[in-house]
Amino acid sequence: MADTIKAILPEIRGCRICAKHLPHAPRPVVQIGAAAKIIIIGQAPGSKVHDSGVPWQDQSGERLRDWTGLAEKIFYDPTKVALMPMGFCYPGASNGADLPPRPECAPLWHARLLALLPKLSLTILVGIHAQGYYLQGAAKATMTETVRGFAGYGPKLIPLPHPSWRSTGWMRRNPWFEADVLPALRKRVRAALAD
Ligand code: SF4
Repeated sequence: MADTIKAILPEIRGCRICAKHLPHAPRPVVQIGAAAKIIIIGQAPGSKVHDSGVPWQDQSGERLRDWTGLAEKIFYDPTKVALMPMGFCYPGASNGADLPPRPECAPLWHARLLALLPKLSLTILVGIHAQGYYLQGAAKATMTETVRGFAGYGPKLIPLPHPSWRSTGWMRRNPWFEADVLPALRKRVRAALAD
């Protein structure tokens, strides 16, 4: 039987594939709706998002909404925006930094979810894990170079740094991001929603 969003969401919520590697019981955090025009492919929930179960409901999310120009109401509207991290469950932390997303997750779920989103017109790849997985050989040697080369990936895809607190210093060192990438990003977001 063909997948449907109604059928796949409970399947994801019940996923225990990498439970033995996670610090808590799995709590997949994903937002998806068949009419979504934009998908944001991020890293993995942090501990705050694990607790709330609401994707990007933290300081990184505030920064991401500022970068994209998306008001909370639209950001959290699954008929407009899909939020699909590389790992759906909080992977834990080590030495004060979150661990990478579990590698089992994206190969297991992403293609099935993307097949249910026929109206997507903009894919936002947030951070090195999403960029490595989706750009593969087209990713540059560093995340900074990949983001700086955003125009080369076409109008339907845009790479961004992870909007963590670290991005504040990174933005100071890379003023072209605010001058060139953010205006293009906001323009593409507006166009995708109007599509
Ligand atoms: S991270 Fe992904 S693969 Fe692992 S338990 Fe959660 S939903 Fe399943």
